[in-house]
Amino acid sequence: MRLGIHLSMGRGLKRTMEEAQELGCNTVQIFSKNPRSWKAGKFDQEGADLVYREKQDRDLRPWVVHATYLINPCSPDDDLYYRSREGLELEIGRAELMGADYYVLHPGNRKDSSPEQSIKRLQHNLAYLLEKFNSINLLVEGMAGRGSELGASFLELSKIVAPFSPTRVGICLDTCHLFAAGWDIRTDKGWRKTLDLFFSHIDYQRLQLIHVNDSVYPLGSRQDRHTHLGQGKIGREGFRAMINRPELREIPLILETPGSVREEGRKNLEFMRRL
Ligand SMILES: [Zn+2]
Ligand SMILES: [Zn+2]
Repeated sequence: MRLGIHLSMGRGLKRTMEEAQELGCNTVQIFSKNPRSWKAGKFDQEGADLVYREKQDRDLRPWVVHATYLINPCSPDDDLYYRSREGLELEIGRAELMGADYYVLHPGNRKDSSPEQSIKRLQHNLAYLLEKFNSINLLVEGMAGRGSELGASFLELSKIVAPFSPTRVGICLDTCHLFAAGWDIRTDKGWRKTLDLFFSHIDYQRLQLIHVNDSVYPLGSRQDRHTHLGQGKIGREGFRAMINRPELREIPLILETPGSVREEGRKNLEFMRRL
């Protein structure tokens, strides 16, 4: 099993790799810059070189970079749309410098434009990025579907990725988002039903990553609030059922639970290993 957790690179990428290993992880996710600001601080070039050279030997793969929060790649507003594209270019550029395997992005918020129109805008961005960056693959994440958030349904996700090669554009699922979007993944039966429908829309090889989070809010709430594994509305049995699904055996799992990685994070990793 490949299991990891979202880590900070605040103390340098060398420290990020060491921390991942101390936690017993064999996959890692990070932001490439401060996630709450458009500004990009100084980049740890030395650390990126080190990640590029050593992640394989340290058995930290896939190495995943997640898009930051302000980016809206399907925005109907031209200013925000092109600003998001610049942000994506900067972040994916950084991700490639560390030799990252995947860059995960949310489809974005369509505001008052139609799903069809926003899917087109998103696809233009994806096509542009694939042309510009050729070593990294992109993963589009399934969402909880709050308000006019794009990408909460499997049909929408399948339309978004359809024009692109499955080797370049994959899908990342998130257990909290699935549950909030109305998929009852608290039991094996629920997982089976969910995955059957998912794979009836989307090629098996597109699913490359799962974010593992429990949900603060109940089934179908459309609210995206992560909590500690086994302590939310999905509960222990849901995660046990997930681990035992044969379709998911090869899929890397990354935790994005709240709180400090050293304390709560470590406990959540242990929870998964015990299952
Ligand atoms: Zn995400
Ligand atoms: Zn989330």
